[in-house]
Amino acid sequence: MPTGSAHNADATVGAVLVDGPALSRRVSELGLEISRDYEGRELLLVGVLKGAVFFISDLMRALHVPCEVDFMAVASYGDATSSSGVVRILKDLDRPIEGRDVLLVEDIVDSGLTLSYLLRTLRARAPASLEVCALLTKPGRRKIDLPIRYVGFEIPDRFVVGYGLDYRERYRNLPYVAALERSTRAL
Ligand code: 5GP
Ligand code: MG
Ligand code: MG
Repeated sequence: MPTGSAHNADATVGAVLVDGPALSRRVSELGLEISRDYEGRELLLVGVLKGAVFFISDLMRALHVPCEVDFMAVASYGDATSSSGVVRILKDLDRPIEGRDVLLVEDIVDSGLTLSYLLRTLRARAPASLEVCALLTKPGRRKIDLPIRYVGFEIPDRFVVGYGLDYRERYRNLPYVAALERSTRAL
């Protein structure tokens, strides 16, 4: 097999940490909680591509308040499994957020460096409010303490894939969250 191919012979999918039914139960709960908190207001959900796409589409359908959705894509300079905190915007929001109630939807908060950058960037655009909803968080890995208003699940310090989360662009389509097992190469 040529090197640089899309195959990931160095890793396989290991133990399931959050199964499909647990994901849907928690997304429904978050939808109710967020709908209560934002009653009478209109939400702008901001998803961070690509990892948060699966979560945000399920979460949005669990909301009972009027809402819109927009997306940002960021690249973090780092290797395949950790970020450096130096973030570049690849795709910015389509519309301004000034005066809007913004909920930033993330797949996972690890060191917190990416989220910290995103919060600073969005805050500078003067939204009426800005909160964070993260499907997963690894509190043990945090380098910066950040206010995360809504959390799906706290998970241990493992690299996970599935339900939007990738390893070298693979495994996003798994309908559950599982730990990645490194088989041959230590990362
Ligand atoms: P942070 O800046 O908080 O260290 O990392 C944020 C980004 O790194 C996440 O949005 C995600 O793209 C990636 N990341 C961090 N931990 C994991 C993980 O366990 N699995 C996957 N697939 N991506 C992760
Ligand atoms: Mg992310
Ligand atoms: Mg990734």
